[in-house]
Amino acid sequence: MAKLLEGKAVAEEIKKKIKNQVQDLKQAPVLASILVGDNSAAAAYVKSQAKAAENLSIVYKLFQLDKDITEQVLIDLILKLNVDKAVDGIIIQMPLPAAIDYKKISQFIAPEKDIEGMHPENIGKILFGKAKLIPCTVASIMELINSGGIDLYGKEVVVVGHSEIVGKPLALLLLDKFATVTVCHIGTSKAGKLEEHVRGAEILIVAVGKAGLVKGEWIKEGAVVIDVGINRVADKIVGDVEFEAAEKRASYITPVPGGVGPLTVTMLMRNLVEAAKARQ
Ligand code: NAD
Repeated sequence: MAKLLEGKAVAEEIKKKIKNQVQDLKQAPVLASILVGDNSAAAAYVKSQAKAAENLSIVYKLFQLDKDITEQVLIDLILKLNVDKAVDGIIIQMPLPAAIDYKKISQFIAPEKDIEGMHPENIGKILFGKAKLIPCTVASIMELINSGGIDLYGKEVVVVGHSEIVGKPLALLLLDKFATVTVCHIGTSKAGKLEEHVRGAEILIVAVGKAGLVKGEWIKEGAVVIDVGINRVADKIVGDVEFEAAEKRASYITPVPGGVGPLTVTMLMRNLVEAAKARQ
């Protein structure tokens, strides 16, 4: 039976370090959070971020904008926050109203305040192994792997999902650790090759958003399984991997919920403190 890789325990350890770093700063770090409209998921993220910030003595400043604003209004606010000496990091809450293009808007955030690590400059730094601000989900995955004492050097790592926020930056970071990385995606499935790749994985990371996509019987004996997927099935949250069958074969596995998810807010705060340290 696999050991569980649980995000909460790992987050607690990292929070202790963040607390110390905050104390060493001249001023409490300030996170500017932009919420557009009244989406309930975005409002829930704000609530949990504000609580996490408070616990770490981080100042959380919420900027609420009407759902009907133009992109220019949002850009103007970002540009103002970019030059505001009191602000260390900026986050735009998702989802945004349909009329606003996140990819376009997020590029206006100053790279040194981009605590989500999604500005092209920060993504580019990952390619060169020089990134300080890493996308939070990816940082969480790397921390979970690290917490299990799992060595990546020379390992067959299969990443399923090639999004800009998870799969692609993750693959680059894994390459930096000298893993042999295979990235699978919808094309792999359509070609009927997903099972073959998954079966060869010593470390499997799945970030797709389809419950039951990866069958438990595909998991290699002793493999490490990190399930990033979040799917609501009959009022329950499940991942992309068939958990019960997979945990019988894996050596380590993340529960869903409870694996990657609980770490991401902590990673956001860690990025904020990194940004504050660099500016101060
Ligand atoms: P996305 O929609 O941007 O990308 C999905 C990826 O899955 C794409 O690469 C696509 O090619 C691939 N894909 C789709 N169908 C497939 C199939 N049948 N076989 C193989 N690959 C397939 O998604 P995302 O934003 O990267 O998120 C992925 C999942 O991770 C979602 O469930 C999301 O909720 C979850 N997520 C969780 C966290 C967390 O904190 N735990 C953070 C971010 C995303």
